[in-house]
Amino acid sequence: MRIQLLPSTFDAQGHATLEQRLTCFLIDDCVAVDAGSIAIALTGEQRTKVRDDIITHPHMDHIASLPIYVDDLYPTLQQPIRVHATAEVICLLERDVFNWNVYPRFSELKNDYGPVMEYVPIPEDGKFSVAHLQVVAVPVNHIVPTIGLVISDQQSSVAFSSDTAETEEFWRVLNETQHLDALLIEASFPDEMAQLAEVSRHFTPASLGQELKKLNHNGMDILAVHLKPTYREQIIAQLNALKIPQLGVMEPGKIYSW
Ligand SMILES: [Zn+2]
Ligand SMILES: [Zn+2]
Repeated sequence: MRIQLLPSTFDAQGHATLEQRLTCFLIDDCVAVDAGSIAIALTGEQRTKVRDDIITHPHMDHIASLPIYVDDLYPTLQQPIRVHATAEVICLLERDVFNWNVYPRFSELKNDYGPVMEYVPIPEDGKFSVAHLQVVAVPVNHIVPTIGLVISDQQSSVAFSSDTAETEEFWRVLNETQHLDALLIEASFPDEMAQLAEVSRHFTPASLGQELKKLNHNGMDILAVHLKPTYREQIIAQLNALKIPQLGVMEPGKIYSW
């Protein structure tokens, strides 16, 4: 499985910068997880292929450019953009984003080929497939309904925490997954901001270090994501000080293969 954390910003030469303001992962050039930078960072070739997007929760940094992506592709879409999300999250997207005020209700619109956007509700048991991938969605602990994911193909499995604080079910599912190759986990705030992390339900390096004790660590890669750009260096130093094997920071723009 090839996974890229799409960059959110670019320097004057057009190279990706390390600061990650928006969240969107691209898997095998065809399936997206979240949509923060989907309309900003995909190549022209990728824009012709990405038609499935799993939305973990409706916070702006995870959906920011989804409306623009559908808008950009509107006349050319020969199949709809399929938005995979829980029923709760679909309701929030319809109420708060695609509501004719903030942006058009694309789920009711068609181009010459047919519908341009379609919701695919995630089943109650959390298990579904998207393209060639098998997905297990698990509720995590954030201030809006949010899911973590375990995504597998024939060869490998990768877990995505999305935004979360201390949680239980996610770790149970990870510990039951055979051959988990990588965990992409959030580390939003530095330890000095533990109080803000707690009320907004995010991790600091210290709380993440505690949380990772719940994981049966099999030597998998653990990559921190969702670092607030202002505190990036501070968070990285604190993560390094935890001395957890295979713990690193995911680099926007780089392609990781498992
Ligand atoms: Zn969030
Ligand atoms: Zn977020």
